[in-house]
Amino acid sequence: MPELPEAEVVARQIRANLLGAQLNDCWVGRADIVREGLPTLSWYLGACLEGVARYGKSVALGFHKEGELRYIVAELGMTGLLLFRATQTKYPQHVHVRMSFTGGRESELRYWNPRRFGRMSLLDQAGLDCYRARRFGVDPLTVPRAEFINLMKTRRGRLKPLLMHQQVIAGIGNIYANEVLFRTKLHPNRDVSRLRKVTIIRLYDTMQTVLRDAISCGGSSVKDFFAPDGTEGHYKQHHLVYGKEGQLCPNSCGRVIRRFQSERSSFVCPTCQRNFKV
Ligand SMILES: [Zn+2]
Repeated sequence: MPELPEAEVVARQIRANLLGAQLNDCWVGRADIVREGLPTLSWYLGACLEGVARYGKSVALGFHKEGELRYIVAELGMTGLLLFRATQTKYPQHVHVRMSFTGGRESELRYWNPRRFGRMSLLDQAGLDCYRARRFGVDPLTVPRAEFINLMKTRRGRLKPLLMHQQVIAGIGNIYANEVLFRTKLHPNRDVSRLRKVTIIRLYDTMQTVLRDAISCGGSSVKDFFAPDGTEGHYKQHHLVYGKEGQLCPNSCGRVIRRFQSERSSFVCPTCQRNFKV
């Protein structure tokens, strides 16, 4: 958390409020929050925000100045937020970067990251291409179905860690992996190499539906996610298994949702998500 839907909501809000605005100042509170490119910081002053993209759980701000494009990439997964000026946070000492803009509907974008799992990078075009190739697998929202099927067919091992493997499929974390697997009636430990094509297609369709529904709900506010304007996502109300251990299975099969530890917490219905050994 944030995962893909939350990062997408963040990217859309920034696009709607700051596209075309000029960056006037960029305060960096601690040098180690910048993964790479800190010496190029002064280039960005006076540059215009020309595009906002999401890669996996990260948001890339594209700046234009004097015929050149450079990027600031903010990693949001696990604890990062990008916030507009008026949005208050519980621990303001964890605001590590503050970007001031003129000419937009908002005047400030802050990068808040209390646990610093993620960081920021300042990259030119070649740097961004390299960064993307190294970190992000296919995007689950835009990958064509045939490509997803081929990808799954070349993999082996347990299903849930694969869905969460950012260098293979970028953007799905623990919440959405659990929700997608329950809805597809697949156990997290199912062997990927044993999945039939028809099952992979069902997995693909469910993954797209869950992610799109979550985006339209503004994401899931679990722990401390909120959007740049301070609004909370309400997809949490649509969660069927995540955080629901001990509750009755929503499929009315009569069993209760169980939780077990593997890579993070897995929430399963023992009846609806059997780990078939076929
Ligand atoms: Zn069930």
